[in-house]
Amino acid sequence: MFASLRSRVAFVTGGGSGIGAATSLMFASQGVKVAVVDVNHEDAEGISQRIERLGGEAIAIAADISKPEQVQSAVLKTVEKFHRLDIAVNNAGIGGDQAETSDLAVDSWRRVNSINLDGVFYCMKYEIPEMLKNGGGSIINISSILGQVGFARASAYVAAKHGVVGLTQAAAIEYGPRKIRVNAVGPGFIRTPILSGLSEEMLKSMAQLHALKRIGEPDEVAALITFLASSEASFITGSYYAVDGGYLAS
Ligand code: NAP
Repeated sequence: MFASLRSRVAFVTGGGSGIGAATSLMFASQGVKVAVVDVNHEDAEGISQRIERLGGEAIAIAADISKPEQVQSAVLKTVEKFHRLDIAVNNAGIGGDQAETSDLAVDSWRRVNSINLDGVFYCMKYEIPEMLKNGGGSIINISSILGQVGFARASAYVAAKHGVVGLTQAAAIEYGPRKIRVNAVGPGFIRTPILSGLSEEMLKSMAQLHALKRIGEPDEVAALITFLASSEASFITGSYYAVDGGYLAS
């Protein structure tokens, strides 16, 4: 599909599950060598082994992206293994506790922001110097529809995902002249374990919030990420792209 991706090296956080796992597998199908990075090492190992069984190259790395020293070490391990870094998908995230803003515990606010926003910053902080060594790269930060609009009982998540869009734009301006493209992807509701706490009833009513009247699938997000990672997206940077079945259209 995208010949430009062959032999590129990608760092995918949250690569052991959901959107990150689908992206790791789609990248591998295009000849990308993948560092599957996840706090859940077993899941990362499972995806890495699947890639190798399919004839691709991968490494599983356990790291908590809310810890800058773990992110730095994960980036170094990737470069030690594959000798360069071309693509980063800063995807790992959590849903967090559901509560109205004044009822939200300070620790819940901090936990969501430490992973969903600070974690993306830590990743970029350590990925960018490696990309500069190769003369450029492509970073895709996973935001959400909730990086564009509000949602009740999710203020920490909404704030973090809006922050990811701003961080993306700032970095795109800084590093555009040095050939690093930085974009944000905003999924609608996607069928992954992050939604596992929701009943079928709730999923059905969430489906109705999308123009296509269904929840999305991880591969539908991975396809957009894969395009943005490729040279076919060479004039695209600093943008937010929705893959949301029309959620934001209404
Ligand atoms: P998922 O299936 O739960 O995958 C997220 C992965 O990230 C999991 O393997 C998780 O491990 C890992 N992770 C969590 N905290 C981490 C940390 N501190 N360091 C490293 N890895 C960590 O969820 P997903 O739906 O694919 O979500 C991926 C991204 O898409 C998230 O940023 C999410 O906010 C965003 N998104 C999802 C949806 C949706 O409806 N699914 C919609 C919009 C945006 P554990 O399983 O051990 O927690």
